[in-house]
Amino acid sequence: MSKTYNCVSCKAPLEENLVICRVCQALQPIYSEVSPFRYFGFDPQFDLDELKLEREYLDLQVVVHPDKQAKRSAEECEYAKSHAIKVTQAYETLKDPIKRAQALMHLKGIELNLETHIQDPELLQQTLERQESLSNLSSKAAIKAFIDESEVAEAIVMQELSQAFRESNFDAVPERVAALRYAQKLYRDARMKLMHLTS
Ligand SMILES: [Zn+2]
Repeated sequence: MSKTYNCVSCKAPLEENLVICRVCQALQPIYSEVSPFRYFGFDPQFDLDELKLEREYLDLQVVVHPDKQAKRSAEECEYAKSHAIKVTQAYETLKDPIKRAQALMHLKGIELNLETHIQDPELLQQTLERQESLSNLSSKAAIKAFIDESEVAEAIVMQELSQAFRESNFDAVPERVAALRYAQKLYRDARMKLMHLTS
């Protein structure tokens, strides 16, 4: 069971986000120990409703915006300032699958090192070959095809990472995260190469 937080003003349990009480609309103080998941009212899991995340983010941004604090106490205005920063940080963590994976592992007591390289020799070989093949491409059509393939490859790694979390197979996470980082890099490199050809 995760810890329950109560509204500092009306004492109602905060069932959604930890920014504002939906019962009395009071702004809440920041609890530094809270994960970005709980902060936004999500269960701590890798698969995440991205539409809901976008909605919550936009909603909370409005809630903590300086222009919306006219009727609030000085204390709440201070909370709003701190939340304005934390809302964005938490959103960026949840939105990025690699940061999200890192935050989840942190909750499990495991610090994920994002500098870790792919360990599986076969996967590493494949990745290096893909990098090599990209450097040999010179036509726009070939690079576009490479980008399409890279998108598929990235989606597959995302599925594998999601599965590792669903099955609580945390040992598999660092390798999948490393593979995702490589896949994202290949995709970015290919996009960059295409941009330079087009311009
Ligand atoms: Zn309240």
